[in-house]
Amino acid sequence: MIDVLNSPVTVLRGIGQKRAELLKKLNIITCADLIRFFPRGYLNMSEICPIDKLVDGQTVTVVAKVSSDISKRVGKRVTRFLFSVSDPKGNTLFVTLYNQKYTAEHLHPGMTVLLHGTVSVEGLVRRMESPRIKLDATPEIEPIYPLTEGVTQASLARNIATALQACNAQLKEMLLPSIREKCGLPEIHEAFRAVHFPRTIEEAEKAKNRFIFEELFLFTVGVRILKLRVKKLDAPQLVPTDLTPFLNRLPYALTNAQKRVIKECFDGIRRSSPMSRLIQGDVGSGKTVIAAAVTFLTARNGKQTALMVPTEILAIQHYESLSALLSPCGVRVELLTGSMRAAEKRDLLLRLEAGQVDLVIGTHALIQKSVKFKELAVAIADEQHRFGVQQRAAMQEKGKNPHMIFLSATPIPRSLALVLYGDLDISILDELPPGRIPVATRRVGSEMEERMYRYVREKALNGEQSYVVCPSVEGGDEMKNAVDFSEQLRKTYLQGISVACLHGRMKSEEKEAILSDFAKNKISVLVSTTVIEVGVNVPNATTMIIENAERFGLSQLHQLRGRVGRGKKESYCFVVSDDKSEEATERLNALCTTNDGFEISKKDLELRGPGDFLGNRQHGLPPFKIADLTRDMKILEQVSKVADRLFKDPSWFILPENRALFISASEMLRSAMLQ
Ligand code: ADP
Ligand code: MG
Repeated sequence: MIDVLNSPVTVLRGIGQKRAELLKKLNIITCADLIRFFPRGYLNMSEICPIDKLVDGQTVTVVAKVSSDISKRVGKRVTRFLFSVSDPKGNTLFVTLYNQKYTAEHLHPGMTVLLHGTVSVEGLVRRMESPRIKLDATPEIEPIYPLTEGVTQASLARNIATALQACNAQLKEMLLPSIREKCGLPEIHEAFRAVHFPRTIEEAEKAKNRFIFEELFLFTVGVRILKLRVKKLDAPQLVPTDLTPFLNRLPYALTNAQKRVIKECFDGIRRSSPMSRLIQGDVGSGKTVIAAAVTFLTARNGKQTALMVPTEILAIQHYESLSALLSPCGVRVELLTGSMRAAEKRDLLLRLEAGQVDLVIGTHALIQKSVKFKELAVAIADEQHRFGVQQRAAMQEKGKNPHMIFLSATPIPRSLALVLYGDLDISILDELPPGRIPVATRRVGSEMEERMYRYVREKALNGEQSYVVCPSVEGGDEMKNAVDFSEQLRKTYLQGISVACLHGRMKSEEKEAILSDFAKNKISVLVSTTVIEVGVNVPNATTMIIENAERFGLSQLHQLRGRVGRGKKESYCFVVSDDKSEEATERLNALCTTNDGFEISKKDLELRGPGDFLGNRQHGLPPFKIADLTRDMKILEQVSKVADRLFKDPSWFILPENRALFISASEMLRSAMLQ
């Protein structure tokens, strides 16, 4: 038997090379693509409205007898056909057709027709202009497919019908009857029929939900299987140590959340299988110290830790703060950057391979071939949404199944995290260190510029520091750029104040010097681009000004705001924007009303949709065909529950009846990884 599903559409009756070319424009190549080309909506011509119940402005379906002759009015460009239809009680609807010659010629008094269109009612006169007419008068629901030139709804529906017939015997049910029953999902043959040729809207919706469920379910199952595979590997053995020497040197007491998450990490890395853990905590919740505690334990076990961060600035800063915490305990911390001198780098790589370094901190430079470890036991990725799946995998390959920890400052709703990171354990840091005052956030227009920068000036004279973020580095008129604006500030409101400019195009030594001066309060005002977005930690900075704030996404604004409010003093964030559009307003208002990262990301997700929000690439989010994670959260939760139940006994997916599911799930996962 040939595999019709995976054959090109040309194997189907009525589809030649030409037609196939057209379908290709819709990304339809195989028969499977064709039957999975789902309607984006339905034209409901199944609910019939009596003529005497018609309401002005409504789009309705009417079934009635043609009660007049068809009169033809030939105009210059259009030919109109006028006639009426009536019900047995004599209620009448006047109909006008434009140029629909074929239809008009087949109409004659006394025949029953179906009309679908928008009615206008003036007194007792009801009219309908250019309705859809069905001469056979059978009420039905018509799917609406996204089209391309040369492909009509009707022709596409015909192709799909042919494909369904040809594939029908090969459709494999992947959802166990027990799951379908519990979740109210139709069986697969029935679902394909109902989604393309529904008899009722409810039936169509149910079928569509089944396919959404299936898609999310396959992905979830794939991710969970991956997790089980990882669990079978042998991980580096680490034994617990006394943390006291480390804790004694900490300048503060850990929050309860930090203690809990450190314990969760330690419990994970003591096991014989590698841990993969996502630590979600809002900006400023103190994730760095978790990495430090884990490093301490690993070093005491004579093994190595790597910390990978997205930017060089962050690498440098982590190097400074982590050496301060760890060096006094005898942990050897080193920094590896792309801009190191060759000799220096060679020396560091040798020591790393010889096991003379306990913690190495770096950017993507860490995953280069030349970087080798003596025994990498734990790999940590900070601000992990910036790393692709492949980069994470490359880091993992630097050791023998090292434990992995991902620190994320973009907290996402739990149900979403479960589907995206189902292969990870999740720890949540839901408590900020004590004494933090929430950052007060105000939206202002550019007319406030002078007042705002006078305030910055006053703060600087009082020893407090400020950030000014611009959307671009240099040039352009539509928005502020860091280079020109810093110059302008120096000459105007901030004369005599130490103002520096920082952006990604600078050399790293230069960046390093500026940040280090800012950290030491030798610089009062730092005008920068979003290079400071992640991680930068200078508690003495208390004002954040974001220029052209409409240019930034909500989560990004929250990250930027998170650079202030890190110390004991009250902090302010001003979002400057003259953009009055609804879109910008909604985003900026959301920022002003809450400081909670989970809330913010929920809103951001809602406003932007998951693809944009997460950045498909970085998250390994599969190219879902029918599911939409913002809209389908409820189904996603259902899927999670079902998966939880099934995976209590992992043997279920080795059963022969689940083979198709197993294969599809693996395929889905692979396509997500390959993105
Ligand atoms: P993030 O979670 O954003 O990475 P950091 O690890 O940079 O946060 O910590 C933010 C600031 O909070 C740092 O200055 C850090 O020293 C401080 N901090 C962390 N934990 C505590 C704590 N338990 N008590 C007081 N300050 C803390
Ligand atoms: Mg951080």
